[in-house]
Parts: sequence; C-alpha cells; structure tokens
Amino acid sequence: MSEALIEVRDLAVHYPLRAGLLRRRAGVVRAVDGISFDIRRGETLGVVGETGCGKSTMGRALLQLGPPSTGIVRFDGVDLATLGAGELRALRPRMQMVFQDPLASLNPRITLGRAIAEPLAEHMDWPPERQRDRVFELMAAVRLDPGLAGRYPHEVSGGQRQRVAIARALALEPDFIVCDEPVAALDLSIQAQIVTLLEALQERFALTYLFISHDLGMVRHIADRVAVMYLGRIVELAARDALYAAPAHPYTAALLASAPDPAAWRAAGALKAPLEGDLPSPAAPPPGCNFCTRCPRVMEICHGTDPPLREIAPGRFAACHLHDPEVAP
Ligand code: SF4
Repeated sequence: MSEALIEVRDLAVHYPLRAGLLRRRAGVVRAVDGISFDIRRGETLGVVGETGCGKSTMGRALLQLGPPSTGIVRFDGVDLATLGAGELRALRPRMQMVFQDPLASLNPRITLGRAIAEPLAEHMDWPPERQRDRVFELMAAVRLDPGLAGRYPHEVSGGQRQRVAIARALALEPDFIVCDEPVAALDLSIQAQIVTLLEALQERFALTYLFISHDLGMVRHIADRVAVMYLGRIVELAARDALYAAPAHPYTAALLASAPDPAAWRAAGALKAPLEGDLPSPAAPPPGCNFCTRCPRVMEICHGTDPPLREIAPGRFAACHLHDPEVAP
C-alpha cells in the first residue's frame, strides 16, 4: 500500500475565455496550471493563497467535480480519469467535500435528518430503520442534538448547519474529504469549534483532509503540510512548522507578512514586505515567474524564465530562482 492516498501529477484546469456578442473564444483562463503533489494517508494538507488563485478549482478537480482537466489524479492507486461513470460513482462514497456555505449546500426544503440520510438513500440499500439509526449516529458524531433532525436549515445556526454538512460527508465512511473554506462563513467563536470537530473526526475515522483556506492562522493550526498556491500553481510546499518559521518563497513570506495575526508577521523572518499590488489575471499571467510583477526580490531572469518547483531540502519544495544555485545572487 502506497504512503500516498492522493497522487496528483501535472493537473491543469483551463477554461475558455469568451468575449463579444457571439461569445467567441478570446483566450484561456488557467485556473489550475500544471500542479503535482501527494497527500499522505491520514494527513491534512493545507492549501493557502489569495482568492482566485485556483484553490477551490483544484479541490473540485481532485474529486472530478470540476470541468475537464488534464493531468493525473490517482486515488488509492486508481487513476480517476480511467474510470467510467459507474465506477466513479462507486468510488464517490470514499471521497467527499465540505463546502464554505452550508446554507447553499443544503436543500432548504428538506429537514436536517433527511439531508444527512440523502447519501445513504442514494448509495445504500438500507431499510428505513437502519437509515434512521445511522442518521442519529452521525448526528452524535458531529455533536448535534438529535432533536434537530426535524428542523429545516434556516431554523438552526450556521455552526449547526456546517455540522450537518460534515455529517453528510461522513455518512458513507469516506477516506478523503476536501474541506473548502469550511469555517470561513462562520462567526469567529464557532470557527474553532468546527476545526476542533474536524480534528477529532480525523482521529476517530482515520480521515485524510485537503484543507483549503485563506486563513493562514487556521491552516497553521490544522495542517501537517502546507501548499501555497499563486495563479494556479504551487509555489511552495513544505511541512507546516518549517514553512511558517522560514518561508522559502517570497510569496509565502509576503502572505505571512500581510496576515492580521502578529505571530504570523514575526514568522515571516527576514522577508517582512507585505503583499502589494493585485493578483494578475489567470487569463494573462506574466511571462517568466508568475509572481514577478509583485515580488520584492525580483531579478532580471524572473521576467523571462519560469522557475520550476524544485526540492530545496528533503520534503521541502519552492518555485523560485532564489533557490537555484546557478542563479541566486
Ligand atoms: Fe521573486 Fe524571481 Fe523568485 Fe519569482 S523567481 S518569486 S520573481 S525572486
């Protein structure tokens, strides 16, 4: 059995850009632009980056929920692109997603109990009593009062709705869950409760997480390793503590320096320049290094040569010419 549950190789998600009355193809949006990484069994890989950097698109592409992609996504050794619709459907219970906005992801017309039972009804041929027992078991697992089973989504709090969404994701005993900004829509006081719950569930059910967030403090709390995305690419990938203590990529350093958390500011080490300028359009990324328009350490080579993501220390990767011994000043 491989150490990696998820293996991603050269994954790309490109959308056609249309313009004019006739909606002619005017270019390509490179939402995810050729990324490779593994997620080990039982770990939490955090993914950080600004809004629009491709984090969510990447998460959906891993579960084959997004538009057609190129590249390979292997789940437990199986290349998902080689599966037919039936085979993929049979594998679905093992790969789930928790979304940012539980109100949008729950049907307002069905009760919370039915919402949790839905995946069971779709995938398991169980009698109603067994389904009902499983719903209560799941509600207990996510620490939801069973008395709420007959309520509708609008009748409970945001935190309770997110617990329902997590219970739904757990219903079919998955191995892997993509958590896409799962606490971003919640009050600050509830965020920590949901993250603590996700950690407890991971321990109890041996789950593997991809945890997408723009909140560096949250990712620092929950992730084992962290991938930093910029304009559809991974620019740094490292063990959490190493990355926060001494970011290897100027973008990671700038993100930490821009974070509201002063501890994160201190962690940015020598590179304290906060992030300036806007994210370029993924339809027109700059030539060379895609961070060159905002990088405080930009060099001449950065404008013409795209730095590959290279291993700069065991298990630590960065895409920056500063780590190329033949180029670095
Ligand atoms: Fe900055 Fe150049 Fe490194 Fe890109 S390659 S992050 S522009 S120093």
